[in-house]
Amino acid sequence: MALAGAGAAAPPAAAATVGEVPILTYHRVGSSPGFARQVAALERSGYRAVTLGRVWQSWRGEAALPPRPVVLTFDDGYLSHYRTAARTLRARGWPGVLNLQVDRLGVAGGLTRAQVRRMLGDGWELDSHSLTHPDLTEVGRERLRRELVASRDAIAREFGVTSNFFCFPYGRSDAAVRAAVRAAGYLGATTTRRGLAKPGGDRFALPRLSVSTRTKPAALLRRLRRAS
Ligand SMILES: [Zn+2]
Repeated sequence: MALAGAGAAAPPAAAATVGEVPILTYHRVGSSPGFARQVAALERSGYRAVTLGRVWQSWRGEAALPPRPVVLTFDDGYLSHYRTAARTLRARGWPGVLNLQVDRLGVAGGLTRAQVRRMLGDGWELDSHSLTHPDLTEVGRERLRRELVASRDAIAREFGVTSNFFCFPYGRSDAAVRAAVRAAGYLGATTTRRGLAKPGGDRFALPRLSVSTRTKPAALLRRLRRAS
């Protein structure tokens, strides 16, 4: 790499935040142009979407991230994730992350199996958001295990992919839930706690930034800058 004259100079200031990644949380994105405007603004500002798996690999030194990475996660599994989000991201070759509540597959307003397959074909990551979306801090041990393990098994069976990350329903977890997520074989989990995901943080409590498609693009960019 050409670093003429750089010598042992200190890295640029931006290096102080290397490895920090904003993970955005979306629910329904509807059909209004709000989502597309946000994505266009992210792109113009130099952001590039990556998957959680790629972030994870970069934290382990196994993959590089673009200079301004961002993860776009979509919770539950709504039809608009296919019709609006996947279409908008596909035009840029950007991946999304679908946090699928497994029992929403194929229901009215949910995603079909064929739609999920198409999203996987676009490079999306498919993670588990449980089978039935209970507050996992309120269920018994057997139900907890089933929500974590059977959802992952169903995703593997239906789509032939391994869900390496779990997304807590309602963002709710406690020490027992996080231990069960780890025991079920997940590498990490996303919450509703606000902030940037950092390589040295608790990987079973990855913070995110919740975004509405009504958020003005400039406000979204300001929030990303403030969060860092
Ligand atoms: Zn949810």
